[in-house]
Amino acid sequence: MISLDRALEQLLAQATALGQTETVATVDGLGRVLAEPIISSVAVPPLDNSEMDGYAVRCADLASVPASLPVSQRIQAGRVGEPLAAGSAARIFTGAPIPSGCDAIVPQESTQLQADRVVVLAMPTPGQWIRPAGMDIKLGARVLERGTRLRPPHVGLAASVGLARLPVYRRLRVAVLFTGDELVMPGEALPAGRIYNSNRFLLTTLLRALGCEVIDLGIVPDQLEATRRALRQAAERADLVISCGGVSVGEADHVRAAVQAEGAIDLWQVAIKPGKPLAFGHVLGVPFIGLPGNPVSGLVTFSILARPFILKRQGAFELSPRAIPMRADFEVNQPGMRREFLRVRVTRRGMLEAFPVQNAAVLTSVAGADGLADIAAGSLVARGSEVPYLPLSELFG
Ligand code: AMP
Ligand code: MG
Repeated sequence: MISLDRALEQLLAQATALGQTETVATVDGLGRVLAEPIISSVAVPPLDNSEMDGYAVRCADLASVPASLPVSQRIQAGRVGEPLAAGSAARIFTGAPIPSGCDAIVPQESTQLQADRVVVLAMPTPGQWIRPAGMDIKLGARVLERGTRLRPPHVGLAASVGLARLPVYRRLRVAVLFTGDELVMPGEALPAGRIYNSNRFLLTTLLRALGCEVIDLGIVPDQLEATRRALRQAAERADLVISCGGVSVGEADHVRAAVQAEGAIDLWQVAIKPGKPLAFGHVLGVPFIGLPGNPVSGLVTFSILARPFILKRQGAFELSPRAIPMRADFEVNQPGMRREFLRVRVTRRGMLEAFPVQNAAVLTSVAGADGLADIAAGSLVARGSEVPYLPLSELFG
C-alpha cells in the first residue's frame, strides 16, 4: 500500500501534457484549457462612461443646489456625444460615453426636469458615477493565463475583449471499460443477481465535465482474455485507458493480470478509504488507471487521483482540489492506516455533518453530499475540531 501523496506524485510525474492545440468558438470553450495567454487588444470599457441614467455635468458650474441647467444634448449608450457646453447638462444613460468637459454624473433620482432644463438637487462630487476607461481591463493587459480551465466567467471575459475563437489544448481521448459479469445496461431488464452499470454513467459524465472525449468499450466479462483484448482495443484509440472494477484481490478480478500481460502495473493499492484497490500502469505505452468497482470508491479515486492526472495532461495549471478548513460536527476515530474521505454536508451552522452510511457501495452518500472531509490516517477527530473539506465543485468538473 502506498500513501495518497506518494501515489499522486507518481501519477503526476507520468502525466505528460498533450501539447496539441486547436481553436474553438469562444462559446464552446467551456471546460477546455487555454493554450495561450489572452492579451487584450482593447480597453474595457473603451471610454469613460456613465454608471447611471442621469445628467452629465461640470461640478464647477454648480456653486450651490438646487441649480438649474439647460439640457444641451442627449447621449445614449453606443454614441459619442459633443463636448459638454459650459453651464449646461447632458442627458445621459448608463454605459454612454462621458462627454469631454463633464466631471460628474448626477443620477436622475437627484434631479427634477423642468421643460428643457434640469434642476440638480444634490451637489455632485467630482468623478461620481463615472466608470473610467480600462476600469475592468487595460489595453495590453494579460487577462487569462495559459493553462486556465475555462469556466463561464472566463468565456465571458474572453468575449469582452472581442475574441470569437480561443486557442485550447485538444481534448484528451479517454477509453473506458467496465468489468463485471453482473453488469447490465440501464434501459434493459435486470435479471436476478445482476446490477446496472451505473459507473459507466458516472465515469462518462465525470470525464465529459473535464473536457475529455470518451471512447466507451462497454462491459467486459470477468475473463482474462476478454479483458486483455478490451485493453488492447482501448490503448489503440486513446491517450488514457480507464477501467472500472476487477482490480481487487478476488479470483474474478483479472484487470491487473491483463494489464501486466499487455504492459505493466506501476502502482497498486493506495492507503485511502474508500478506493484502496486503485491501480496505475500502462498498456501498449498508453497510461492506464484501474478504478475500483464500488461506485463511491471509483468516484473518490477518480476525483483525487485521476482528475489531477487528466488535468495535467490537458495542460491545466490548477490540478488539485483546494481544501477549506471546516469544523466537524461529527467524531471519528480512524486508527487505521488509510486516509479516509467522508461524505459530508455543510450544516446551517457552517459545520460538517457526516452522511450516516459511509459504505463504498452507497452512491446516495455522494448524491446527498456537499463534499468530502479529508481525515488523516490514524487520527482522532473530536467534534468541533477542524478538518480539510473538499467541496464537490472542486472535485467534479
Ligand atoms: P469489483 O471492483 O469488480 O470487485 O467490484 C466491487 C463492487 O462494485 C461489486 O459489488 C460490483 O458489483 C460493483 N461494481 C463493479 N462495477 C460496477 C459498475 N460498472 N457499476 C456499478 N457497480 C459496479
Ligand atoms: Mg468485479
